[in-house]
Amino acid sequence: MTSKPNHHRKRQTKIVATLGPASSTKAMIRALFDAGADVFRLNFSHGSHRDHHERMCLIREVELDVGRPITVLADLQGPKLRVGVFTDGRIDLEIGQSLRLDLDPVPGTNQRVQLPHPEIFAAIGPDSELLLDDGKVKLRVHRCGADFADTIVMSGHQLSDRKGVNVPDVVLPLSPLTPKDRLDLEAALSMGVDWVALSFVQRPEDVDEARQLIGQRAAVMAKLEKPSAVRNLLPILDLADGVMVARGDLGVEMPPENVPRTQKLIVREARRIGKPVIVATQMLESMITNATPTRAEASDVATAVYDGADAIMLSAESATGQYPIEAVAMMDRIARHTQDDPTYHTGIAAQHPDLQHTSADAITAAARQITETIEAAAIVTYTTSGSTTLRAVRERPEVPILCLTSKLETARRLVLSFGVHAVHTADVASFNEMVQKAVQIALYDGIARIGQRVVITAGVPFGKPGNTNVLRIAWIEEQTDPRQLTLPE
Ligand code: PEP
Repeated sequence: MTSKPNHHRKRQTKIVATLGPASSTKAMIRALFDAGADVFRLNFSHGSHRDHHERMCLIREVELDVGRPITVLADLQGPKLRVGVFTDGRIDLEIGQSLRLDLDPVPGTNQRVQLPHPEIFAAIGPDSELLLDDGKVKLRVHRCGADFADTIVMSGHQLSDRKGVNVPDVVLPLSPLTPKDRLDLEAALSMGVDWVALSFVQRPEDVDEARQLIGQRAAVMAKLEKPSAVRNLLPILDLADGVMVARGDLGVEMPPENVPRTQKLIVREARRIGKPVIVATQMLESMITNATPTRAEASDVATAVYDGADAIMLSAESATGQYPIEAVAMMDRIARHTQDDPTYHTGIAAQHPDLQHTSADAITAAARQITETIEAAAIVTYTTSGSTTLRAVRERPEVPILCLTSKLETARRLVLSFGVHAVHTADVASFNEMVQKAVQIALYDGIARIGQRVVITAGVPFGKPGNTNVLRIAWIEEQTDPRQLTLPE
């Protein structure tokens, strides 16, 4: 893949845009990329395999056209629980009335409706709460058996066919991958997606189960949308390659007032461990139908940026909304303006995580320190697996992290991470070639100017993952002027 001049975006927080009916032509995907989208999300809760395959092909065409790696995240639906249908399509509810949930597929009435999930009946007990239709209806169980639950309506006035059900207090004995997810997963992997996101992860074992199927074919992202997942945050972070603060379902499963501190906790811990974290859902919700966001939405996006999240995500705003390009451009502007605030870096530096006692962390922390001391233009990381670059990301340096890798899949996965400008380039044979290539690409991609310096980290011998042991300061000199360059492959 050949880089072209000045392709560095000069924005540290990455933007994830969900593709859907409003954003599925090549021209639109290109426009979203140009507006600032770094990662495209294929949401397998909607659309056919054919739809996703077509979008995937178009993304890869745009990637070739722009000469930059683009990340694709396949988001699996997971075990979404739903009630059955009603005779009249919907029922009216009164607070205090009773409603029975059972396994009978006969269309429901105001007195009963199907809940085709025996595992829920097995896991709940008296006083358990069920939330339906994104929390608009709350039911409290007063009696239950193996195939029914008698509940009282605590809030909500209407319920219609196939509305979602959340059971917040309970860990359900469910696999994170339904039969549909398994088919979707194979389709996504055969398309060559870079990340797979798992919905409704409850326990670390759920991540393990998915990893068995995925192997190294894609990176695994755990969506945190259940209180039980938040309780298991550290072991889940340990096993996953990244996490998403999936505020849509999280905000149903826990009271809204708990969401902000949970978001901050997840972002802080993900950074401490050194894995990417996406903040998702309702970030610019009003832009589904309006060309500008509310002040509160702008502030919400900025908060995720101030917290040092790796990426911020658009869902319906870019998938089905009326203003997909404007929404991406707005996120881009908010992130840049926030990043330019002098207090932004002080805030991020104040949460600096402790170093591990490894040569990789020692070298990486030194690289950030040296970069500040000599006002270098960038940290350059050579990486095969991506681990050297992820340790640099953990430092949240003020300057860009130029990541050079001979593995295209590593470049694509790292695009999601804070501050990373990933470049796919041929392997280097010697230390001198490594330095030469680093300064050439830094200059060519608009990351450094002649007369500036860059700080290079690498693991020598090359190609051994997690082996960062070399640091080198290099000048960008006259002879590396782009007009005289041999361009990176
Ligand atoms: C969420 O719940 O916030 C989320 C991102 O998941 P989905 O869009 O699949 O509901």
